[in-house]
Amino acid sequence: MPKYIFVGGGVMSGIGKGVATASIGRILKSKGFKVTAIKIDPYINVDAGTMNPVEHGEVFVTDDGVECDQDVGNYERFLDEDIYTDNYLTTGRVYQAVINRERNLGYNGRCVEVVPDIPNEVISIIKKAGKKVKAEFILIEIGGTVGEYQNMLFLEAARMLKLQHPKDVLFILVSYLPIPKLLGEMKTKPTQYAVRTLNSAGIQPDIILARSLIALDEPRKKKISNFCNVSIKDIISAPDIKSIYEIPINFEKENLGNRILKRFGLEPKKSDLKEWKGLVKNIKKPRKKVKIGIVGKYFETGKFTLMDSYISVIEAIKHAAYSLGAKHEIVWLSAEKYEKKPRSIVELKKFDGIIVPGGFGNRGVEGKIKTIEFCRKQKIPFLGLCLGMQLAVVEFARNVCGIKNAHSREFSKKCEPVIDVMPEQKVLLSEKKYGGTMRLGAYKCKIKPRTKSSGAYRSLNISERHRHRYELNNDYRGILEQNGLIMAGINPQKDLVEIIEIPNHPFFVATQFHPEFKSRPLKPHPLFKEFIEASLN
Ligand code: GLN
Repeated sequence: MPKYIFVGGGVMSGIGKGVATASIGRILKSKGFKVTAIKIDPYINVDAGTMNPVEHGEVFVTDDGVECDQDVGNYERFLDEDIYTDNYLTTGRVYQAVINRERNLGYNGRCVEVVPDIPNEVISIIKKAGKKVKAEFILIEIGGTVGEYQNMLFLEAARMLKLQHPKDVLFILVSYLPIPKLLGEMKTKPTQYAVRTLNSAGIQPDIILARSLIALDEPRKKKISNFCNVSIKDIISAPDIKSIYEIPINFEKENLGNRILKRFGLEPKKSDLKEWKGLVKNIKKPRKKVKIGIVGKYFETGKFTLMDSYISVIEAIKHAAYSLGAKHEIVWLSAEKYEKKPRSIVELKKFDGIIVPGGFGNRGVEGKIKTIEFCRKQKIPFLGLCLGMQLAVVEFARNVCGIKNAHSREFSKKCEPVIDVMPEQKVLLSEKKYGGTMRLGAYKCKIKPRTKSSGAYRSLNISERHRHRYELNNDYRGILEQNGLIMAGINPQKDLVEIIEIPNHPFFVATQFHPEFKSRPLKPHPLFKEFIEASLN
């Protein structure tokens, strides 16, 4: 019988529930257990593919092609395990499954009700996800905070599962303890209210992870323990720290792993976090610095800069930098600025390397093309990702091949479409079938020998994850190649160009796929590693 650990949030969102969930997973894995993690996103959207990244953060893509919440990326990175479709649930997805079954007479003519049929569906998806990978521990993170109308049915599922398997279900509350400047004291009251709200949903937390600016002291632990009805040993202090990768180690200092085992009536077990500790050591003692600019557009929200839209790109840069003993500095550069003030582009010279990441829509496109031209001519290491690759092709076609009117069909109907919509996508777009219909998930790619890519991967057969509707137009392949563009990676099934390179340049590689989704802290992605290495030189 697998063990289920639900993780919910109290007080406010954005306090690192996802990373906490992933860290618990890492700890249990380090004790020799098979672990998987599930994200519940209470939106009506069937998946994250239709959500604006500025609002919801990055859309992460799994091998089997589900467009999901960025926390799934955290799970994969911390667990170093692949995560699949059933590990991502939204309200929309659950309702869709129930309604489809109802239409097929799957409920044998009885009345189908929100309770218990929706929570039951949630439970059955959770069990299926666990079974697929034979998990001994299944972590289920419920998005948002307790008390929100949106996640009630998911809390109901947790309550019902515990009723069915009283010894196999645990509830962890990740809460926040503010220290108002005016008072200068850490306050526990919001957490007390969060626990009461959880109680009113029929759930008593077993463990509380207390997030705060600094570590919890004894009086605070006692207070929470008393008022929230949780053993003092199960109040885990989770102060802010510099690197998220330290979190599993910090949790283990508070003995979290064995507390979890104890609550399940299991014997304590030693955790092996040796490799993980090595990683943290590298993070803390960098020997050099690398400054990377990311030219994009999904990071401005009012007066704030949001990094969530490019989280996997950022993590991939970090993994590569750590493995090379370097400290990263990432600077956000607005593509639109280079359209409005073209001369400001010279600021790119200050960077060791430039990334143009993925994106959709017209805004900032010409600024990105200018960026790419500058990197090509000034020999600044450049990595293009998805849209970044498509625009690198446009730039090359315009400025090297002399096809002045070259563009991607996404942005211009009357251009020389060096990047064109894939035939099957044309039909989908005309029927407005946008959700979950891009070219998604893992596809094979054959690498050309003696290229930067073959050197990086040390293999000629790879598989990478995709999310796009447009592709390099094979009608222009000849002219692009004649002018020196290297088609360094090809999808063998459909003969699609997946990687391009420019020779006689320290590093100019761009990919139609998203390598960032497969980078892991202990296994940095080869292309990112090669890019950072070139940037360090
Ligand atoms: N908008 C482009 C396409 O749909 C690129 C997508 C991306 O960067 N993920 O093909």
